[in-house]
Amino acid sequence: MDAGYSFREDWTIVALIVQKYGGSSVADTDSIKRVAKRIIETKNAGNDVAVVVSAMGDTTDDLIDQAMSIDSTPPAREMDMLMTAGERISMSLLSMAIHSAGSHAYSFTGSQAGFMTDARFGAAHIRAVKPDRVRHALEKGSVAIVAGFQGINEDGDATTLGRGGSDTSAVALAVALGADVCEIYTDVDGVFTADPRIVPTARRIPVIDYESMLEMSSCGSKVLALRCVEYAQRFGMPLHVRSSFSHRNGTLILPEGISPASVPNLTRE
Ligand code: ADP
Ligand code: ASP
Ligand code: MG
Repeated sequence: MDAGYSFREDWTIVALIVQKYGGSSVADTDSIKRVAKRIIETKNAGNDVAVVVSAMGDTTDDLIDQAMSIDSTPPAREMDMLMTAGERISMSLLSMAIHSAGSHAYSFTGSQAGFMTDARFGAAHIRAVKPDRVRHALEKGSVAIVAGFQGINEDGDATTLGRGGSDTSAVALAVALGADVCEIYTDVDGVFTADPRIVPTARRIPVIDYESMLEMSSCGSKVLALRCVEYAQRFGMPLHVRSSFSHRNGTLILPEGISPASVPNLTRE
């Protein structure tokens, strides 16, 4: 995969990067401005950048609570319609923050970004991603911001991918665009040997293979959704889980034979 890269004058790699920012990284408008700055930095380094964003902070939980206070068994279609609203808010605010910082971005819903799913409301599977509008935005030199966790079914109804599904949206978009790396930005410095918020002695894992990561995700480590890791493994998409609150490198999850040094957008440490 190194063969397709082009280089800048200082020999650093020019790449197509998909960045996913989780709800903890965009919890309020100041955080959104901070994330916008980081996206612009990546763009100004000469990379093409497509972003997948989650709903702000606890928005999804709050929407569920609101629904439950009306009906404890709401219609699944309406529930998905409601839940897609969270990511619409964050994607448009993030796009505005990028504009306000002097750069350019377009936001897209899952449907506009070409995420076609099956009809299982609340746990839809991605059938295909046709990100023509995202590609067009990138070709025009803009950043593309895509709402995570959502798609559209054959009937044209909004669907959601299950909790934590923005991780899967990011990998699926990265695969469809042929990105060089999918960066998952979160509130910890990478994947640790155990949840660092519960086990203070947990250590960050600098590089891990898909199999071991699958095991961690299936044992309930919520740092990466299980389906996201399965998708990345299936298509050999390199992942970099890192913090949006620091510039340190995090955890690389790589196909066999890919050298960590060949992954774009690493911080020189
Ligand atoms: P985001 O909002 O970015 O999607 P999540 O809350 O879904 O973030 O996932 C990040 C959280 O996962 C961390 O704050 C951490 O508490 C938890 N976590 C659980 N297991 C691990 C692990 N092995 N390594 C890192 N983080 C973990
Ligand atoms: N907003 C959704 C959730 O809270 C999707 C995600 O954050 O990945 O589950
Ligand atoms: Mg998550």
